[in-house]
Amino acid sequence: MEDKMPVDEKIRKGKRFPKKGFTGKGKKFKPRPKVAPREEEAAPPEPPPPKKIVIPENVTVRELAQIMGISPIDVIKELMKNGVMANINQRLDRDTAVIVAEELGFIVEEPAPQPVEEAPPAPKTIRQLIYEGESPEKMVPRPPVVTVLGHVDHGKTTLLDAIRHTNVAAKEVGGITQRIGAYQVEVDGKKITFIDTPGHEAFTAMRARGAQVTDIAVLVVAADDGVMPQTLEAIDHARAAQVPIIVAINKIDKPEANVERVKRQLAEVGLVPEEWGGNTICVPISAKKGIGIDELLENILLVAELEGLKANPNRPAVGTVIEGKMDEKRGPVATVLVQNGTLRRGEIIVVDDMYGRVRAMFNERGEPIDEAPPSTPVLVMGLPEVPTPGLLFEVVMNEKEAKAIVEKRKAEKALPGPAPQTITLEALHRMMEAGEVKELNVILKADAYGSLEPIVSSLEKMSTEELRIKIIHKGTGNVSESDVMLAVASKGLVIGFNVDVDPAARALAENEKVEIRLYQVIYHLLEDMEKALKGLLEPEVKENILGHAQVRAIFRVAKGQVAGVYVLDGVVIRGARARIIRNGELVYDGKVASLRRFTEDVKEVRQGFECGVGLENFGDFQIGDIIEIYEVVKVT
Ligand code: GDP
Repeated sequence: MEDKMPVDEKIRKGKRFPKKGFTGKGKKFKPRPKVAPREEEAAPPEPPPPKKIVIPENVTVRELAQIMGISPIDVIKELMKNGVMANINQRLDRDTAVIVAEELGFIVEEPAPQPVEEAPPAPKTIRQLIYEGESPEKMVPRPPVVTVLGHVDHGKTTLLDAIRHTNVAAKEVGGITQRIGAYQVEVDGKKITFIDTPGHEAFTAMRARGAQVTDIAVLVVAADDGVMPQTLEAIDHARAAQVPIIVAINKIDKPEANVERVKRQLAEVGLVPEEWGGNTICVPISAKKGIGIDELLENILLVAELEGLKANPNRPAVGTVIEGKMDEKRGPVATVLVQNGTLRRGEIIVVDDMYGRVRAMFNERGEPIDEAPPSTPVLVMGLPEVPTPGLLFEVVMNEKEAKAIVEKRKAEKALPGPAPQTITLEALHRMMEAGEVKELNVILKADAYGSLEPIVSSLEKMSTEELRIKIIHKGTGNVSESDVMLAVASKGLVIGFNVDVDPAARALAENEKVEIRLYQVIYHLLEDMEKALKGLLEPEVKENILGHAQVRAIFRVAKGQVAGVYVLDGVVIRGARARIIRNGELVYDGKVASLRRFTEDVKEVRQGFECGVGLENFGDFQIGDIIEIYEVVKVT
């Protein structure tokens, strides 16, 4: 059995020799007994202060000598004194190396601990904005909000109807439910909210307007038809929205149903069923015959629980407009989904640049209600106009506050503000420089599957450290409205190869300022993208060298290596650019990902100090490497 105790701990506990030990000559290395120095040795002429060093695991005799700045011969001699014969390339375990170093008068410092990888902060999502700022003890579980997606005719509407009819307590009020855009069902005392407009077009249109209401997507796949183009689209749309997917394999009542085939097809696109060792829940159902519906609902609740969906019912309500229409008798009505807080009759809500008092609220059964807690969809009367779906609403304290907000928003709209931001290749450059984009979302359409793959792989290879090209959806056929919608929702651009653009898609793209780039030659497509990326990498800039550090020790960490370095001149700054030139060759150019002094994360370390340095995506340090720290500044 290998001795698993970390080396540092062993040293601290005085357990200096691992069971494995040094195997140079099949002999364990024994420390020399520490005898008291004799009189004449006790007073040497001014010994130099012991040097501090850091020793990594498994150094060779040569490397150890380099770290200590002495001849390897001296190291070999020291080993020999202890009965160990070793050659210059012999590897020593760290404990042995530490003892040799200490015997030679060095102070061995503990290696810098593993740096914590700092993920760049992701931009806040609407969802985070809605739920943030709540103290955790005020948050209570809330029902999940579910959208049904899938290929046309696979049974989305039938499923929504089946769920509504079997589980809405509508029977009690005569079996009539009104379509208000969303409804709630109850399963074992727990609620689930369904958005009543199925399909990824509506789902993404909502997202494109800045809303984010769906917690879980149910993907309906007909067992007699299998995974179809719109199934794939739906998967990409759900993934782009980072919403978990539960698959309902529908129409299992049909004789030609083949559930296993559907599972195989799903696995091929990365939705590996749980029963096959993946983590996609697949529930076989028949929406028409009402088979498997309860199981589907139970699984929705299970995923909801895993997602830890919570809200604070005791705060003013915020949420999203799901539907709006002009009712002949009641005037403008809107279905809103309360996402956080509780909406109460009589409260004042602001939607975009209008406000109104909630005069009445109704549930999907047409019953008047006085309050709507989180995840409840309600039909609201009292707004002066019909609001656009996807807009956020919020409750404010009083009319005065509402007026102030609305007036401010109206005034802002009246101003000739900045044009809506378009993600064009040209605009990317600017946004990159401002650090606004790190990922370029691409929706790729091509004439045939055969042409998709080479484009995808070439584009992915073009990704640089600064900018990653992410294909969020690829498919065949013309650029559709839904492609453009996905581009809007994901702030991406659409690339078409040997395809055309549907008129509706073109109109939408113009409206929403989405760039669609069409190509007939793959080379031109790749060249354009490459140029755009290169342009980003070669802005008009100059370099300032900030400092140099020498690698004196190397430590393996979970994701690569950290170097124990000595700052030769200038300064090492966390986040600064760094390169390594080894034997006249550039072996690394990137960033200082982590910087530590002993156990502390630090922002910078100056000349004459030692520190632990981790470089982004680099794990190939060599002792003696010089790390050059530099910055790139724009030439003004
Ligand atoms: P959508 O386009 O995905 O909303 O699909 P629909 O719900 O409109 O269903 C399309 C067709 O499939 C309709 O004729 C339904 O009656 C039928 N259908 C839906 N679910 C089932 C099912 O479980 N079994 C069978 N046999 N037919 C179904």
